[in-house]
Amino acid sequence: MMWKTHLVFGFLVGLFLIPFLKPAYPFVFLAIVLFTSLLPDVDHPDSKYGRKVKWLSFVFKHRGVFHSIFGVALFVVPFWYFGLEIIWIPVLVGYVSHLVGDMVTLQGIRPFYPFKLTISGTLRVNSWTETFFLIVFVLLAGWRVYVLWF
Ligand SMILES: [Zn+2]
Repeated sequence: MMWKTHLVFGFLVGLFLIPFLKPAYPFVFLAIVLFTSLLPDVDHPDSKYGRKVKWLSFVFKHRGVFHSIFGVALFVVPFWYFGLEIIWIPVLVGYVSHLVGDMVTLQGIRPFYPFKLTISGTLRVNSWTETFFLIVFVLLAGWRVYVLWF
């Protein structure tokens, strides 16, 4: 998925979860969800975060370990261990939303990397279909923001 789609999809998932998770600080929750919805692509040298830590993409394959449950664990477990609910829950939401977004693409992801099992879908990255979904997500997110705060 394109970074824009990941961002909006993560935001949307966060908005839908607010009534269930009832975070103490919804805006902090959403900010962390937004930040982490792009985090798995840190393994790509031209991504938003990846270009700041290019060495990482030389060591780790794109859509490798950072796009697996081990990537989730890497960023979630330390905060969970110290009981920082305010952080680990939105990190989990944002990060997993990214993995789900990549799961529906043709390339897919390997959730148990380095094991070969791949979960993939039919979505072509940066296609008209993706743009269509991006627009739908923006509209849904606008509606959720309206329902939650206006
Ligand atoms: Zn990705």
